[in-house]
Amino acid sequence: MEQMKAADYQGALNSFEQARRYNDSAAAAHLGLGITYFHLRNDQCAERELNRALEINPREVIAYQFLGELYYRKDDIDSAASYWEKAVALDPSASGLRARLERVRKEHKTEKDFTQDVTVHFLVKYEGREKIEDGRIVLRILEDAYGEIGRALSYYPDHEIQVILYSDQQFQEITDAPGWSDGIYDGKIRISLGGIEKNTQGLRRTLYHEYTHAVVRAIMPRVPTWLNEGLAQYFEGREIDERQKEILRCIAQAGKLPPHSNLKGSFMGLGSEQAVFAYLISLSSVRYMIDSFGMYRVKDVLEELAAGTDTDSAISKSIMLSYEEFDSNWKRSLE
Ligand SMILES: [Zn+2]
Repeated sequence: MEQMKAADYQGALNSFEQARRYNDSAAAAHLGLGITYFHLRNDQCAERELNRALEINPREVIAYQFLGELYYRKDDIDSAASYWEKAVALDPSASGLRARLERVRKEHKTEKDFTQDVTVHFLVKYEGREKIEDGRIVLRILEDAYGEIGRALSYYPDHEIQVILYSDQQFQEITDAPGWSDGIYDGKIRISLGGIEKNTQGLRRTLYHEYTHAVVRAIMPRVPTWLNEGLAQYFEGREIDERQKEILRCIAQAGKLPPHSNLKGSFMGLGSEQAVFAYLISLSSVRYMIDSFGMYRVKDVLEELAAGTDTDSAISKSIMLSYEEFDSNWKRSLE
């Protein structure tokens, strides 16, 4: 379990396999194997082990939960919902799961008549045949992003990435995203198509941004938010203008910049002003990291994290500075 928490899935797989060999009728070993295979994207083995856990213990809520995740990932919403219903029936206090089930039902209702279009790497869904050209534009931009970001990070996700295009209203209903956001990545890229014909440049930025999140997640599911959002903004081509530089300089000189460790959690709950600031700091520090150490060092940080290294050591191993030294060097660069 500790290995799995640290995202060392290969290590966790070996440990759970050993546990299973000691006692093949222990539900926990099969459950652990199932969840680990799920993270390793070995769906077939994941399903087999989760079902085995349920044969041994039919009340294993978490097995139902992960079977739901598995089918949700495969875009089989009906099967996902039926597994989550079983989980909620067994554990009515699972409010997070109940909320997810509600959301997935809404999502299903909205998207069941959506049109689909695919390339080698992406599947895009949208409403109405008249949007066919919009779908094509989105796929073309995403294939560009796949190539460019792939070359920069030397990483190409090996699974199809789903992209769903919504009207502004659908986007608000489905995602509960804050008003300032026009795209999210939650395992699928979801985009509000409000201004597509009007502003293709804006669409390009949003798609590059969300696709970066998909790549980062594929390398390592748990990355500090400042690093994740900094990279996403870097690849969308966002610049820090003179006014923002001046703001950063003032705050840095006053010694009021937060340490990076305060920016590792989600930005989703932030008010719009705080969010603007958190994104700005993220972009500024990731740019500093890229300019000072090179993109391949940033990739090293991601890979160290993926290998189960904690953030402090991942940074110090990759850029030869401690987390605090990186923090203070970046702050000094702003003054
Ligand atoms: Zn983002």
